[in-house]
Amino acid sequence: MPQSLPTLCGSIMGSPFSLSAKIHNAAYAALGLDYTFVCFGIEDPVAGVAAIRTLGVRGMNVSMPYKTVVMEHLDAIDESALVIGAVNTINNVDGVLTGYNTDYLGAVRALQEVCELNKKRVAVIGAGGAARAVVYGCLQAAARVTVFNRSSERGKVLSSDLGAHWGGGVETFAAQDFDIVINATSVGFKQPDSNPLDGLLASHLIVMDVAFMPVRTALLLQAAELGCRTVSGTRMLVHQACRQIELYTGMEAPIDIMEQAMLEEIQRLNL
Ligand code: NDP
Repeated sequence: MPQSLPTLCGSIMGSPFSLSAKIHNAAYAALGLDYTFVCFGIEDPVAGVAAIRTLGVRGMNVSMPYKTVVMEHLDAIDESALVIGAVNTINNVDGVLTGYNTDYLGAVRALQEVCELNKKRVAVIGAGGAARAVVYGCLQAAARVTVFNRSSERGKVLSSDLGAHWGGGVETFAAQDFDIVINATSVGFKQPDSNPLDGLLASHLIVMDVAFMPVRTALLLQAAELGCRTVSGTRMLVHQACRQIELYTGMEAPIDIMEQAMLEEIQRLNL
């Protein structure tokens, strides 16, 4: 019999996906905590938030398409999540539900392992939820950020909301004007042959991809071939999960164990 009542954490998402459960459960085991993480596939995000309260779920990850819609049903929103306009983490402390965005921290922590961001010229490709988090994080770290996106309307809105420059369509990206380029589109995710910056890279660039399946995307492979330094989407993913562990447990996250669990699961999923 367990020595304590187990604590429940989980994720609400459109279609359940095993990766977060593997990462979180590996962390809880390593920390010696009687926590269990369960993936809930739901269709009603408002009922999902009510269930957190009813069941006393300690922490809930939120995936697309629910990252914005849950916000008005929480008790408080962290400042960063408010500016980004998306919550991917709900922290339940004594019945008070606070929404956070850990994606932006994941991106910044992953990039800062490779270089300082202060005054760096950063090109972000994309204008969806991930791009908003990446742009916000880079601006917080005092980088000079330019956004490129297929749809100019969405790109301009993101740029003006967050205070970045609007660059235009990705075909107008010129490598010599930047130190870092980040693919924050969905191109390349579960698409091992798709590279949104095909032929546009140069060797001086640091190249990051938010796509995390496959681990080495076509973009990262081309960048490595040119001699660029690279930052993978898996590194961002594990760093954002570390912040969730910190929030849900108050303990330092065992990043190496979490990364190993993540990579094993991606390999098992065969991407
Ligand atoms: P959204 O649907 O909100 O945005 C998608 C973006 O991709 C838009 O900018 C869209 O452009 C662009 N895009 C889609 N298809 C194409 C195409 N064929 N050509 C050019 N641009 C295209 O998605 P998210 O922002 O939520 O997610 C983006 C990626 O980030 C996903 O792969 C997701 O898995 C990943 N992600 C990774 C995380 C990590 O920790 N590594 C965390 C969160 C997300 P347009 O505006 O013109 O439609």
